[in-house]
Amino acid sequence: MKFTESISDVIPPQKVEEIMASIDISEKIVITTHLSPDGDALGSSLALYHYLKSMGKKARIIVPNSFPYFLKWMKGSGEIEIYEYNPEAAKHILSGADLIFSLDYNISKRAGDMGTAIDASPARKILIDHHLAPGDNFDIILSHPEISSTSELIFRLLFQAGKYDELTQAEAECIYCGMMTDTGGFTFNSSEPEIFEIISLLLRKNVDKDAIYSHVFHNYSADRFRLLGFTLSQRMEIYPELHSALIHLSREDQAQFRFSKGDTEGFVNYPLSIKNIIFSTFIREDEGLIKLSFRSQKSFPCNEFAAEFFNGGGHLNASGGEFYGTYEEALRTYSLGLKRYEEKLKRAMNEL
Ligand code: 5GP
Ligand code: MN
Repeated sequence: MKFTESISDVIPPQKVEEIMASIDISEKIVITTHLSPDGDALGSSLALYHYLKSMGKKARIIVPNSFPYFLKWMKGSGEIEIYEYNPEAAKHILSGADLIFSLDYNISKRAGDMGTAIDASPARKILIDHHLAPGDNFDIILSHPEISSTSELIFRLLFQAGKYDELTQAEAECIYCGMMTDTGGFTFNSSEPEIFEIISLLLRKNVDKDAIYSHVFHNYSADRFRLLGFTLSQRMEIYPELHSALIHLSREDQAQFRFSKGDTEGFVNYPLSIKNIIFSTFIREDEGLIKLSFRSQKSFPCNEFAAEFFNGGGHLNASGGEFYGTYEEALRTYSLGLKRYEEKLKRAMNEL
């Protein structure tokens, strides 16, 4: 058996054809992602971007706002345009595009103000995503919540379209980065054996997986590390009877450690390492809003919790949301929510 034969057709072949045909007939193609783009949003976008460029397309990536320093090593990241820095120019590009890809988000609201500009564009629109509940204002919807990452979907799309042989090292590195970051270094959402068949195919493109791990996870500033220590020792609450942990940072706390974007990435995962904790929440006071991140284990639906109390959503075990009010109100809302979810917390605890 050839080693490439073990990847199944997760994407309906007709959809692969439709997407490839849409690319064929388009010249100006814009790739977009969600607010605060992460490793998967950028990895999937850059892999697709390199592929489109290699096909001779006028491709661009526009993201709503800036992204963390530990993702800037990816090839092409310097060419990414940031909507927030020049909304008028970005709107002009979006309205003149033939084709717009929405990667790693399900509804245009997740792209912030840029979402309105995408909706308003007459371009053909393709969604490629792995979040639940895709919106309907797209011409083609490739939505697979059971798949680890959007980057994996981009791999599958190119693979199923017969483009594996042409896949470059740079594209493979971007895809690997997205799959690695969205699975916490393959520690969750990554039990499907085919994920590792794909990794094997990426490694054959000379991806140095250890170097990528280092670029992303060993690239932090000393300030971030001190902030992590402070957060875990001074700003963590444990609710043993509810199997939950909360970490929280005010703007004042962050300023003390010269907070820079991305510094708190991954903080929310730490409390899940505590025995019998199945629900972890991180509340961070941001400029003009409160940003929340949630992580859970087993059946506890942290996306439901995010949707019910914090205008958010996401995956069963990894979700986020926003709160418009004071920091203290956000903390109170969390406490009330936790009590309301007592049953579900206990049920999930029994599954451990
Ligand atoms: P993170 O905690 O890493 O920022 O986000 C984890 C997941 O939660 C993301 O992949 C995304 O699905 C979801 N998410 C984060 N923030 C929001 C939000 O404000 N709204 C919604 N609907 N989902 C979010
Ligand atoms: Mn993702």
